Amino acid sequence: MSKRILVLPGDGIGPEIVTEACKVLERLKSLTGLAIEMEQGLLGGAAVDATGVPLPEETLAQAKAADAILLGAVGGPKWDALDPAIRPEKGLLGIRSQLDLFGNLRPAILYPQLAAASTLKPEVVAGLDILIVRELTGGIYFGQPRGVRTLENGERQGYNTYVYAESEIRRIARVAFESARKRNKKVCSVDKANVLEVTVLWREVVEEVAKEYPDVELSHMYVDNAAMQLVRDPKQFDVIVTGNMFGDILSDAAAMLTGSIGMLPSASLDEQGKGMYEPCHGSAPDIAGQGVANPLATILSAAMMLRYSLGEEAAAQRIEVAVSRVLDQGLRTADIQSANTRRVSTSEMGDAVAAALE
Ligand code: NAD
Repeated sequence: MSKRILVLPGDGIGPEIVTEACKVLERLKSLTGLAIEMEQGLLGGAAVDATGVPLPEETLAQAKAADAILLGAVGGPKWDALDPAIRPEKGLLGIRSQLDLFGNLRPAILYPQLAAASTLKPEVVAGLDILIVRELTGGIYFGQPRGVRTLENGERQGYNTYVYAESEIRRIARVAFESARKRNKKVCSVDKANVLEVTVLWREVVEEVAKEYPDVELSHMYVDNAAMQLVRDPKQFDVIVTGNMFGDILSDAAAMLTGSIGMLPSASLDEQGKGMYEPCHGSAPDIAGQGVANPLATILSAAMMLRYSLGEEAAAQRIEVAVSRVLDQGLRTADIQSANTRRVSTSEMGDAVAAALE
């Protein structure tokens, strides 16, 4: 039976880059008979415009019925002045938490062809291949109570709550150890256990889980040191596992090690391996509609979708090899262009990857 993919183009460059990923999937389907069916849905600003809310009930029902979700990006200045409750980003947070997509996998891989695109010295980043596993539905971004209150002296005070239950820590730790088993068998757990009690518990639970994975080496690092080590010697890491906020920040830093955020895919998984796949970047309103956005992060997200949610490892690798071939051919979108390469548009890049599948 065909697997059902819900495609959510979203806003800004979202529709442009998702079109290219779908083009690649369609070509793969006609070449290999891959059993997938794609349908489209509304999320983010596009959903606000059409229905008044960023995550319509119909989209949620489509998402629940699908085997996997492919998302572009949401948000943009058009919706920035809206009530926070119906801003596009609420749609994204909503779908992640409604589907319990707690495990965010963000690989940061530096393609050798793009070593010159990184701001770091080539010897520091050449061959970089790390995976950041970020907890996505808990921690301080969701903890209650939260808000802004007025103190007795009339001064306003903002507050959030950093909470993790043992079960939340245990399941994200398992995702990290399982992922490490398929890679170089090293997990570095990042916390702030010298200051925050919640991360003292984090460290204890990760150590308990580690006992189930004696073949995987576990280390711990404070988040401030991890930020420093990521730019000093990123190749020391294999898998990094951390909470929602630290993961948010560290994964963006790791993204820039690779030169362009336009190259980085991500997966957000539930406990059964169902997932939502999206590029790490946002909707890039500054370049939307110009045909210059890099679609490779979204195309590589589609490859992750085939690997993690659809059990199609060979098809996933075929896309990744095609991307590498296109880079070998010297084709580059504007964000990754360097000397002696040929600049192509968003759709030309999609065409080239689709052609390189053959
Ligand atoms: P952004 O990632 O959209 O853009 C940052 C910079 O990177 C911009 O200069 C942009 O042109 C460039 N860029 C991003 N993707 C690119 C691509 N594929 N090809 C070439 N260049 C690319 O981040 P931002 O500017 O901070 O946010 C813009 C909007 O996106 C905001 O509304 C924000 O809330 C939203 N956002 C959405 C997501 C998401 O949907 N997951 C994530 C982050 C930001």
